[in-house]
This record gives sequence, structure tokens and C-alpha cells, in this order.
Amino acid sequence: MLMPAVKPLGELENPSEFIARHIGVSEADEAHMLSVIGEASRRALIDSIVPRSIARSVVMDLPPAVTEAAALAELKSIASQNQVLKSFIGQGYHGTHTPGVILRNVLENPAWYTAYTPYQAEISQGRMEALVNFQTMVTDLTGMAIANASMLDEATAAAEAMTLAMRSVKSKSKVFVVSGYCHPQTIEVIRTRAAPLGIEVVVTTNAEQWNAALAAEHFAALAQYPASMGSIEDLSAYADQTHARSGAFIVAADLLALTLLKPPGEMGSDIVVGTTQRFGMPMGAGGPHAAYMACRDEYKRSLPGRLVGVSVDKHGNPAYRLALQTREQHIRREKATSNICTAQVLPAVVASMYAVYHGPQGLKRIAQRVAAYTAVLAQGLQSLGHTLRKRTAFDTLCVLSGPQTDALLARARAADMNLRRVCAESLAITLDETTTREDIAKLWSVFANDGQARPTFEAFEKGIEPLIPTELRRTSDFLTHPVFNTHHSETGMLRYIRALSDKDLALDRSMIPLGSCTMKLNATSEMIPITWPEFANVHPFAPADQLQGYKVLDEQLRAWLCEATGYAGISLQPNAGSQGEYAGLLAIKAFHASRDEAHRNICLIPSSAHGTNPASAQMVGMTVVVTKCDDNGNVDMADLKAKCEQHSANLAAVMITYPSTHGVFETTVKELCALVHEHGGRVYVDGANMNALVGVAAPGEFGGDVSHLNLHKTFCIPHGGGGPGVGPVCVVEDLVPFLPGHETAGIRGGVGAVSAAPLGNAAVLPISWMYIRMMGADGLKHATETAILSANYISKRLADHYPTLYASANGHVAHECILDLRGLKETSGVMAEDVAKRLMDHGFHAPTLSFPVANTLMVEPTESETLEELDRFIDAMIAIREEIRLIENGTWPQDDNPLKNAPHTAVSLMKAEWLHPYSREDGAASTSTRANAKYWPPVGRVDNVYGDRNLFCSCVPVGEAE
Ligand SMILES: *Cc1c(COP(=O)(O)O)cnc(C)c1O
Repeated sequence: MLMPAVKPLGELENPSEFIARHIGVSEADEAHMLSVIGEASRRALIDSIVPRSIARSVVMDLPPAVTEAAALAELKSIASQNQVLKSFIGQGYHGTHTPGVILRNVLENPAWYTAYTPYQAEISQGRMEALVNFQTMVTDLTGMAIANASMLDEATAAAEAMTLAMRSVKSKSKVFVVSGYCHPQTIEVIRTRAAPLGIEVVVTTNAEQWNAALAAEHFAALAQYPASMGSIEDLSAYADQTHARSGAFIVAADLLALTLLKPPGEMGSDIVVGTTQRFGMPMGAGGPHAAYMACRDEYKRSLPGRLVGVSVDKHGNPAYRLALQTREQHIRREKATSNICTAQVLPAVVASMYAVYHGPQGLKRIAQRVAAYTAVLAQGLQSLGHTLRKRTAFDTLCVLSGPQTDALLARARAADMNLRRVCAESLAITLDETTTREDIAKLWSVFANDGQARPTFEAFEKGIEPLIPTELRRTSDFLTHPVFNTHHSETGMLRYIRALSDKDLALDRSMIPLGSCTMKLNATSEMIPITWPEFANVHPFAPADQLQGYKVLDEQLRAWLCEATGYAGISLQPNAGSQGEYAGLLAIKAFHASRDEAHRNICLIPSSAHGTNPASAQMVGMTVVVTKCDDNGNVDMADLKAKCEQHSANLAAVMITYPSTHGVFETTVKELCALVHEHGGRVYVDGANMNALVGVAAPGEFGGDVSHLNLHKTFCIPHGGGGPGVGPVCVVEDLVPFLPGHETAGIRGGVGAVSAAPLGNAAVLPISWMYIRMMGADGLKHATETAILSANYISKRLADHYPTLYASANGHVAHECILDLRGLKETSGVMAEDVAKRLMDHGFHAPTLSFPVANTLMVEPTESETLEELDRFIDAMIAIREEIRLIENGTWPQDDNPLKNAPHTAVSLMKAEWLHPYSREDGAASTSTRANAKYWPPVGRVDNVYGDRNLFCSCVPVGEAE
């Protein structure tokens, strides 16, 4: 009998097998693609694209690639260095039970986590319904008129509330009053954000100071409700005082508490912010969680973040879309009101589903239990002879622990419990949904002296009254909409979640060819660690020795990202690209100030830049000067030179994107950097396009001083439908001292904290760690080169149908290409938007629409797509071009054709009467879809104008929904 030849052991063990799973293009595919492009080899292609002057001098020093199983095992051993103690720290982070049906079908489900931001409304109806639920939940619980679809964290939300107030009120004062009873990390971020804007932050530490500050001039005041240490107070009189000064009253409120407490909206507040973390998102050492912002109706047009609104589609049916914006209502470049782009959509969906799952009664029951347990705990502590600092509480008690403080903390730790050290004299205990009777008994044991009889739960529980003052108990209803009162069986809940995700197109169905946004594979192995309890269930302010796993993760990931970028130092604290920009510009500003050059405040930004660039620059108090681009889409060097000379004495920074947002490797980038340095400025290289650079060129080597990365683009963190993200800020050696610190967590830094938690969205960092660990230096470089190969393949194959707008002299593009559709308006009336909508009929998410050039489509395939999928996309684009030809030659009228009527819903195609000049089959574009895999857009073209004229941002009243 013939035995199959035994392969040598070395061949059977393939530590880099993941690389071939991440990169969709095989060796044979690559050869075919190169022949289409007309290059002999991948090497030759890359050499003809990446300017020799910037090519990396040395390969990245990264550990060699390992398999998925090996990487998971290695990360598990790092994770296990975290100690998971039961947390009673509170301070904005609480234990929570993520309902299993939400954990598995939302948080761990690629239909939700691989979706993009819902700019293309028709294929995003499911997640926008969930976000409207989120907005309704927030407005109902806070008692405010309007809420957005998430903020990055509570601390930055409070800082954004401060600037929203400053823009909106009559008061001309520059004083912002902050109650010392706010969470310390919130106060810290507010200080960071206020300083460059010349806002004077007055933090009061007692009632007397607070009253005095409110009696003096101020444009806004912030209070925490319940206070960080637990007490509950009626805020109405304070709001009146602020209003008497023509200012705005801001409240940071706990949503679970608001199910039982009189909401801030009934106490005269103008803006309410907070976190939704305890609605089902694990603490994750600080993030990701969705924060929220709600405000009075008059402020809605300057509300930061995204707002989902209800409009109608072409057929007159209700449909959701992002309100008040073509892209971002608030990122109006240098006139921006905020720089938030990526927010926290996935955690917002989880929180909204938690409210749908529990409903108003369920939420109230959870809150009542927490409040009752807190009251029981209080009685027991008092019976043990301890003094509580306040009489009122929802979930937090502050114990006057005196000289025993540290001993009590240590005893609690020995019993696997973390309490909060408030000061040398007192500590706080916060309960949550996960607290049990046993926990309370254990807490009493900690506080009991040896030999002292332990209280029993039974002694107090009968007739226990919560410590909420009667006049502050909630009387108004909330979450009365049927969506919060229907899906309470698990079957019903499962089907609701499934029904919503079925409406949407995410990466789990087809390619999302979004230029600048890098929608690449988010491998399942990369996702698995984020819900490991060792990463998920730790508090960001737990003692440092319990967070050793995160410390190792942070150190390794920073070292690897330094290798990838060529920079000397990195902070992972910023929780989106925009926040990385902010932190980076803050570092530049602090650097200049440290050299007595604080007057340097001019920031040059090319006109093609992403909107967050000028928005971030104005937030650090810099003056933005826009520079031109030339006809080839490159930075106009002559204009840049002239502006550098004109502003030489005051030049702070130049912000460029590389390769450019036009998809080209500019050959003069080194000269550009040198020029800026000659004038004493620093170069900010926006790293959103790092997918064209990793392993090939490094901004820290070719002249950049600062960059942010988008780990949710280049390094595989999924987009989550619009967040979470991670935006590390990377700097050269002399700027390292100016990276953000985090005093609340005991971390020194040159500038203050930019996020609520020291590691920002810590719990998603394992994703990027896994990616780099499984790819190694060769794999990452291979990925970059394949991304460039695929973009050039698409550009080449579509050249006769849609010319690529910008290319280098030899006709090549970088990792993305801008397809020029501007001529079609003249010949057919077709706009790029029509092609974007028509692609939905073919089952594709549109490329980036009209950025950075109006009426174009920017395509970025990434390395993860297979040749088959690239061809399917190209063929769909060509089929659409053929349809445009039928409009051009008069076969179809300009206003009635498959493009103008796209996308086509199944219902619209099945109507008895069909009055269009093309067939139903053509309308469905059924020829180009995979067999039996047709995606049916759930709504027709959404009317944006109608929705903005009739702004409506909460759940659709029943009856109008069908
Ligand atoms: C995505 C992007 C940003 C902003 O990043 P966020 O994470 O969304 O805040 C900035 N610049 C460019 C070029 C981008 O593509």
C-alpha cells in the first residue's frame, strides 16, 4: 500500500498561517493582478509607488508571527496577570451583568461590530433604530429634550458640555464652576480642555465655596448627581443661580439612579452628561463605553457628536438618517464646535439593548435593589459603630474611616474587594447590579472589629427605606415607548436584535470599500480576548498592582507601534483619532511654551485635510491657516512655503496626511518637513492612512514629529458602526515629555489627561495586540503591499469606466483611489451619490462619498478582500457604468432610471403596477449578486432635507411606524 509522503515537520508547523487568512489575495491572484496593472512583481510595483527617499531603512523589530492558538495562549498569560477583585470603587465605573442574549448577539456579533458609521442611511437602518432607542432612553431618563447618539466618555462629554455652554449662553464670563463633588477624572479632563481656551475653572471643595462661586460671574456650572461620594441634593436652586447669571447649568448624572431620582431636566438643567457603562458594558479598565449628552432644544444645532433623526424615504415611509449634516454637523473645519468623529456606537447599542431587554420596570427593579442594599449596608455599618459622612445615597456610601482608612482598604483587598480611597480620612463603597447579600456580609466583616457581632441582612431588610430624600424621588414616567415594553422574553429579544442587524450591511456580508476608513478584516481570534473576565471586569482605578496584565499589554503594544511608526514615544490614552490629534497638538503647544515660544499658535492645514484636523487645532487654541493643493491633488509647496515664511515667527505646526487624502505618495514630503522645521514649526502627520505605510515607510523617520494612529482602521479594531476607536498619539524624542498623563490614576505627564481612563478604551487594545502578534514584521509589510496592490488593481480595471482622479506620474495610486464621477452630471444627470445608492442594490456598501473631493467616490479595498470580491465589486461598478450609458444615449430618462430610483426595496419591485422604463429584474440588479444571497435594502432613498426640516430624534410613535 502506498503511504502519502510524510512532510518534514518544519512544513507542518506554520507559525505564520494567520497571515494568509488575513490577506485575501493568494500568490496566484497576485500574479494575475500584477499582470493587469503591468508590473513584473510586487517589489517592482511598490518601488514604483513609494518614494525611495522615504523608504524604511530597517525592518520593524517585532516578535516573529505566531499562530492564532499560540497568540491567544500568550495573551491569556498576560491577561492573567490582572487580578479581578470585586469592585466597590464606583467613581463612574460599575459592575454590570451583560445579558447573554446581548453579549453574544450584539457585542460579540460581527453583524454589529463590523458595521461602518451610518452615513449611508439605507443600509444602516438597524443600527440607527438602536441609536434612536439610545437617544430616547437618554432623553427619557434625564428629562431633557434631545440627546445625541453617544460621546466618548463621561469626562470628555463634560468638557464638551462646557464648550457647548460657552457657545450657547449670553454670559460673557470665562469662568466655569465645577463642583468638587464631581468625579476626579472628570475634573482633570475639564482642566486639560479648558486651559488652551482661556477658560478659568473654579473647582469648589465645599458647600460654602460652591454657593459663593454660583453667586459670582460664571458662564456655566457643573454638578454631579448623585455626587461622586454618593450624596443626593436638589439642584434646582443652583440652576436658578446660574441662570440668573445668564449661564448654563450642567449636570453629570447616573442613568441607573435616574430611574428613581427626580431627573435633572425637572430641576432646570440645560445640559446633562454621563456614562451608560453600567447598562451592560463591562468596566474593561475604563472603556469602551458610551457616554451621553442631552440638552435643551435650543442647543440642538450646536450639539457635538452624531444625532440620528427620523425622516421619510422615497416611498413616504419613516426612515432613519444622521440628522443635520452632510457628514458631521459639528465638524465645520476651523469653525468646528467639536472634533468628535468616531464615537461609541457599539457600546451605545449595547446600552440601548439593555434598556429594551429590562424595560422601565426591570431597570427600576435593579435600581431599587441597589438602593435598598445600600440602605441595608448603611445600617449595618452604623450598627458596627461607623459614621457615614452623608445621610442621602443611591448606591454609594462615604465612610468616615479616620486613621483606619488604609487598614480597612487592605482588609477589604484581602477579602478580594476593592473599595475607594477618597482621602486619608474616608473611603467610599459603591454597590451595583452585581452586588449580592454575601458581598454585603463580607463588607460588614471587613468593617467589624475582631469579636464584634456581625450584623445580619435579615435584621434590616424588612421595611427598608432607600436613602433617597422623598422630595427627590422620581414621579415621572420613562421608557413608555412600546420598544422598551415588548421584547422581554428572550425569544422576542433575540429576534428583535436579529431583525435589526438583518437590515444592515456590514463586513460580514460584503466588502466595505471606504477610502480613509480602512475597513479590513477584524479576525475573530482578535476579538475573543476582549470579553475575557481578566480584561473585561477590572476597574480603571483599581490599585496598580492588580493591573499588571494591562501594564504589560500597554508596554508591548506601545513598543510595537513605535516600531511601526518610527516614533520614540506613544500614549494609548486617546480614545479616537480626533482625540489623538488633540493630544498631539497639545504636546506641540506645550513644547513651544516650554521654550518660551507660547506665541507660536499658527497651524497650517492643506485644504484636502480631514475635518477633524482643523477642528482639533481650534480646540487647542491654535489659529488655522488653510493652504492650497495643486491640480494633482498634492500640497501646493509654493503656497505652503509662502505661508511658512509669512507666519514664520508664529508657526506652531503643519498638519498633513500621508499618503495624502488624495491617495498619493507625495514625493516632496521630506522637503516639506524640513521646511516646516526651518521655520520652527512641528510636523503633524495624520496617521489615518498608515495602512499604506506599515513596514514600508515610517512617519517618525521621514520627518514627522507627531502622528495619531487609528487602531480602528489600520490595526483591526472593528468600526462598531461608528466606534469605539483608539487613537494613540505618537511623538519624536523631544516631545515625549509632553504626552498626556493621568493624575487620577497617579500617572505623571506633561499635559493633563485627555480621557477619563488612563488607557482610554483599554478593553479593545487586545485586538491590535493580537493582530500584530499574529502578523509579525513580514506579515504587516505584506499586508501593506497587498493593500496598495489591490487599490491599483481596482484603479486600473476601472480606468476606462471611471477615471482615477489623482495618481503619481507613473499612473499609480497608494492604498486608495478617488474615482472621478464629476463628468457624469453633464452627460446623464448622475451624481456620485446615485452610484453609491445603486451599489446597495448590488449588495455593496458605497465607497467614501464626496471626500475629499465633491462628487467622487474614494475606494479603499484593503488587503483583506479576496480577488473574487474585488472583481465582484469592479463588475458591479462597470454594470452601473453601462446603465449610465443608457441614460446618456436617451434610452432612459435622466429622472427615471435604476440609479435615480436606487436603492430598490423588495416591496417597491413587487408592486402590481410598474411604471418605470426598466424591468423589475434590472431594478433589483439581481444578475450581479451571488446566488441566493441578494441583499434587500429595507427602505428606499432617504430624504435628508425633510428630516432636517422636521427634526425628530426619538422613537417613532406607534402607528406611524408601519
Ligand atoms: C478617520 C480619520 C480621522 C478621525 O479619526 P476618528 O477616529 O474618527 O476620530 C482623522 N483623519 C483622517 C484622515 C481620517 O480618515
